[in-house]
Amino acid sequence: MSQELVCPSHEDAKVASPEPPLLIVLSGPSGVGKDSVIEELKKTEANRHFVVTATTRSPRPGETNGVDYIFLDESTFLEMRQNHQLLESAQYSGRWYGVPRSQVSEALEAGKDVFLKIEVQGAETVRGLAPEAVLVFLAPGSFEELAQRLAQRRTEDSSELQRRLDIARREMEQVSRYDYCVVNRDGCLEQAVSDIEAIIIAEKCRVEPRKVRLE
Ligand code: 5GP
Repeated sequence: MSQELVCPSHEDAKVASPEPPLLIVLSGPSGVGKDSVIEELKKTEANRHFVVTATTRSPRPGETNGVDYIFLDESTFLEMRQNHQLLESAQYSGRWYGVPRSQVSEALEAGKDVFLKIEVQGAETVRGLAPEAVLVFLAPGSFEELAQRLAQRRTEDSSELQRRLDIARREMEQVSRYDYCVVNRDGCLEQAVSDIEAIIIAEKCRVEPRKVRLE
């Protein structure tokens, strides 16, 4: 009787022969759906860490400290920045945002793929600090879709909304600096998520794997 062959899943195969962990930067304009994509990516069993970044902006209704962000006052944030506890930091629409360095280095050391959800200036900084990071730009189906989505979520007043759209226009011009561009069309979240999973698989199949070192 012939024995049935069972192919290992990507995850099991990785346990047998671990590749170096990836640093994946997911970037793109506000309202494009980065959070929704991340929520889907969290559902797999994969060995991943999703960095909770720090900000000085106020929590929106429903946001939890330590889960959505580490919400800090400006002096605490600036102290962390001064003490090099942030891998990168940037101002966005008048507020500070930054990536706690320890979360990234500890997760990479533990062999986990690390995900950063940051805006475009931050992505550029991370590329300088870790040239082997994988930079993924999440783009809307169109600028009109983005404007509609931002308006519908009702988390910003009209002047903040306008500011975010102005920033988004500039951010969309930066797509050529990225390794990959994934389009998140209205109603097609699953497609965007599967494109990102495909990118991760392709990266894991590289003959010369990326080896992330933080400067
Ligand atoms: P929001 O206020 O909508 O949560 O975030 C505004 C923008 O800041 C989004 O594009 C978000 O991805 C980005 N962001 C969140 N955390 C960080 C961070 O630590 N560094 C940078 N550079 N951008 C961040």
